[in-house]
Order: sequence, then structure tokens, then C-alpha cells
Amino acid sequence: MLDRAKSEAMNISLLVFGSDNFRKTLPNQIYDTNVFSVEVTANWNEAVGRLQLKPPDIILIQASLNDSMDLCCWIQEQTNLSSIYSIILEDRPQVLADKIKYGCSWEMSQCANVMDQGADAYIWILPEENSFYTEDKTKVLNPCDQLLLAHLSVASRKVQKYRDLQRQNDLLSAIALSDSLTELNNRRALEWELPRQIQKANNHGIPLSLIILDVDYFKKINDTYGHLIGDRILQLLSKRLRHNLRLKDIPFRYGGEEFVIIISNTSPQEALGVAQRLNKVVYEQPFAINKELSINISISLGISSLQPEDDPKGSSLLDRADKCLLKAKATGRNCVVGCESFVHSISSAAR
Ligand code: GH3
Ligand code: MG
Ligand code: MG
Repeated sequence: MLDRAKSEAMNISLLVFGSDNFRKTLPNQIYDTNVFSVEVTANWNEAVGRLQLKPPDIILIQASLNDSMDLCCWIQEQTNLSSIYSIILEDRPQVLADKIKYGCSWEMSQCANVMDQGADAYIWILPEENSFYTEDKTKVLNPCDQLLLAHLSVASRKVQKYRDLQRQNDLLSAIALSDSLTELNNRRALEWELPRQIQKANNHGIPLSLIILDVDYFKKINDTYGHLIGDRILQLLSKRLRHNLRLKDIPFRYGGEEFVIIISNTSPQEALGVAQRLNKVVYEQPFAINKELSINISISLGISSLQPEDDPKGSSLLDRADKCLLKAKATGRNCVVGCESFVHSISSAAR
């Protein structure tokens, strides 16, 4: 039976695809608002709309309603709706009559047939004479209601497991896509995000720019102060970068002391401004490791902006920015180099 306390904490959403009369035949427990939030519709388009907008945990389908089996098949085909627990309630008079006429084997193959079409459970609605009454004539749950509540209990357990799994999945994705030292997105996240941003920019005809930056002479920092201090610098630098970017601009740790920033909806000229600002905020203020020790560092930056001929993964975009970074290093470091024709400038925070 339904474990009320557990289900209450979960608040399970239930969509009933059935007529108003059908809704009235469902057991009262379904309308316990502490456990279930119930929506009812007998309209196919409305049902599909609700399923797409906010998929319920469970759907109860009245078999005699037009297109009921089609709805069940449709849900089964939608990968994003695969977690919905579908219960078919059989109330078609002909099918109920056939059940009595042909017996147990027919009933089993009918059940298998319905479940093949995507249902998780198939329940026969018994005629009213099969309802049970106590001596004082109070109606008690008939076997059909009992089975329905038992299936709701199974569905609730599945919902619980699915939600737990989803939470774990979110956590693992966050771990897999984040850099443990700096807590920035890592290179894997960049490989996933950059093609998305390129597609979005191409679809909407908006500019997209990218910055690669590298800490100058970082090996010397490690050699002078040790790796732990080097690590701390990378953490502080990451924070400073993040604080000096718009929320929608995403910084990634690309490798050791190299970072990539995707700046969306930003022209080459605007990207140059962003890169110059970062160059300045890193160079102008030393990084305070502790009360006694502050360290000055500088960064070199390369910029590229999306061109129509760029590949959808972003390799050519990254490659151009990397070449600019190499040029910035060759030019003396602590400067910005942009590779788009009108950003052929080299600007430096130190100059
Ligand atoms: P350049 O100006 O040409 O970039 O010189 P560089 O010394 O910064 O470049 P190089 O590639 O020679 O050295 C990068 C150094 O960054 C070497 C490597 O040990 C260090 N490094 C990479 N990842 C980490 C890290 O996570 N922590 C620390 N502390 N050091 C790292
Ligand atoms: Mg370096
Ligand atoms: Mg490097």
C-alpha cells in the first residue's frame, strides 16, 4: 500500500487522461493533496501540452477515451518522458466482456499486448457489483482500487529512485566538468560548451569571441615559491578573472596555467576591450598570498572571433586565439593580441 509519509515528502505529480465521470470513480486517496498533485484532462492536445511543459511522475489513462493507447505509445517514444509511470485503466465494455468470455489466457495476452505498447501497468475496472461493503453498508476498496493504489506505491518508489539518480547524475556531471583546484569549468566542459555557443551564435546571427590567456613565467613562480604557492596564485587568478567578467561570460581552465574565456554576443572590438581590462586587473594589483607575501604576475592574451568558415566544434576559433597568444608571448608578454583584421593591435598593461 501507499506509504503516505514517504510519498508526502516527495509530492508526486499525477496526470489523469480521462473524462470527468472517470475521475469520480478513482479512489479518494488519489486526491490527497499532501501526497499527489493531480491534473485532469480528456483532451489529447492539452494532455500532450502538459506532458511537454511539465512532465508528471505518473499518468493514469482511461482506456475508453479516444486515442488513449496512442497517447501511451507517444509517451513511450519520447526519450525525455521515459521516466513517467503509465497506468492504463481498462473500462472498454467490449474488452471487459471479452475478458469474461475468453478467460485467463486471453486476459494475459491482452495485458502483455497493452504493456508492449508502453504501459507500466494495466488494470481492469471491475463493475460496481464487485465493490465490497461492510455491514454498515460503507463501501470499502474494491480489488481494482487496491491494485491501483499498489501500483501508485510502486510508481512512488520508482520516482524516488529516479530523483535520487538524477541528483547523483547532476553531482557527477558537476564534478566531471569542473576543475578541482580553481573550481572553474574544465577543458571537458569547454569541449561541450563551445560547440553549443557557436551553434547559438550562427543560428541567431550574433557575434562570438574567445580569449586564451596564459600566465607569464609561471614556472619561475613555482621555482621561487613552491608549487603550493603556485596553486594558490591559480586560485586567486581564477577568482579575479571571474569577478571581472559578466555572468554570461564563461571562464574555463584549459590546462596548467592557461585559461579560455567564451564571451558571447561580443564583437572583436568589444572582446579586445575585455581582454585589455583583464590584462590590466591582473598586472596592476599583486596577489596577496598571506600577510607577508604578495606576488605580482602578468598574463598574455590572444583573442579570436567567430567567422563564417569556422568549424562547428570551435577548433579553428581556438587555434586562431592560440596563435595570437603565441604572438603575445613572442612580443614580450603581458599584452593582448587580437587576430581579426581590425584588431591587429597589440596592447599591453605595462605600456
Ligand atoms: P611563459 O611565459 O612562456 O608561459 O612561461 P611559463 O613559465 O609560464 O611556461 P611553462 O610552460 O614553461 O611553464 C608552465 C608551468 O606551469 C609549468 C608547470 O609546472 C606549471 N603548472 C601547470 N599546472 C600547474 C598547477 O596546477 N599548479 C602549479 N603550481 N603549477 C602548475
Ligand atoms: Mg605560462
Ligand atoms: Mg602555458
